[in-house]
Amino acid sequence: MKKSSEKLTDINQIGEFGLIDLITNDFDIVNDSTELSIGDDAAILNYKNQKTIVSTDMLVEGVHFDLSYFPLKHLGYKAVVSSISDICSMYGTTKQITVSIAISNRFKLESIKELYSGINHACKRYNVDLIGGDTTSSLKGLVISVTAIGCTTKSGYVTRSGSKPNDLIVVTGSLGGAYLGLQVLEREKQVFLVNPNNKPDLSKYKYVVERQLKPEAKSDIIEFFLENKIKPTSMIDISDGLSSEIIHLSKNSGNGCIIYEEKLPISQETVDTCKEFKLEASTIALSGGEDYELLFTIDSKDLKKIEQHKEFSVIGYVTKESNTNLITRDGKTTPINSMGWKSF
Ligand code: ADP
Ligand code: MG
Repeated sequence: MKKSSEKLTDINQIGEFGLIDLITNDFDIVNDSTELSIGDDAAILNYKNQKTIVSTDMLVEGVHFDLSYFPLKHLGYKAVVSSISDICSMYGTTKQITVSIAISNRFKLESIKELYSGINHACKRYNVDLIGGDTTSSLKGLVISVTAIGCTTKSGYVTRSGSKPNDLIVVTGSLGGAYLGLQVLEREKQVFLVNPNNKPDLSKYKYVVERQLKPEAKSDIIEFFLENKIKPTSMIDISDGLSSEIIHLSKNSGNGCIIYEEKLPISQETVDTCKEFKLEASTIALSGGEDYELLFTIDSKDLKKIEQHKEFSVIGYVTKESNTNLITRDGKTTPINSMGWKSF
């Protein structure tokens, strides 16, 4: 955090080109497919005979993030991660990104540098090249748009459609943490608004807050799939929440599913925080978003291959009938809707 006494630099002082130079200076190019990067009217990529995958995400201040508790560095990191996650869910590898920003005069050079240090951190972590973008002004607030470009692997790509009855439904990692992290941060913001001297102690919520502020894309899972010759029949990343992603996979494949409540992977920290917020952990696991885990279906003969990896939970299976159902802990069957599932 910069001290308020420190002199901050107005962007007008250095101009648009000065800003672009400053923020893009520290980025390295690490991929062969990047033939020409920042500095011309466009970038040139050379994927030879590999198929190219492209995905774009846009984040708007006040709609997708709140800078009163979301540090700019984390925002830059998360914006890149969420785009990489989309490429992962196609069974692809991300190689390049473009980043476009619209900024109001409220943002000083130091803030934009913070944002780009998070972007750079993500580029390094995931071996991705920043190859361009656009910089413009906004009347109010910050808008950031990231386009991720990648390629398919030699095993081809995986879409949301393609599952068949009796395929197993599998999810990586654990669910619901990111949503609870957001609840904790929102609550602390309210406390702070009432009395700015209240310093929040978030140590107890480290796990869930980190799930919200610093999610990771599951590129390591794609590598595991490739090494073990596993090709999911369908796949999606969990950005909106498990239940809505399950419905996407079912609708796109023209079938349904049975999910078991007791199989949902939920961390102890998430369960504990749910208790404090008087929320039901299973409901949060189904409807909380932004976990950036992968949800996929596999042929049941691949079960042995995924059992060796502790990150995977088999949570159900694909059915021929188009209903998407949850079997609760007490053995009842209840429909899953896109808002999660109504507990009764
Ligand atoms: P143009 O006039 O064609 O829009 P710019 O002057 O905006 O070109 O951009 C110059 C170069 O800087 C281009 O390579 C562009 O992709 C890159 N660039 C501009 N803004 C950003 C940004 N916010 N992040 C990364 N690269 C950027
Ligand atoms: Mg431009």
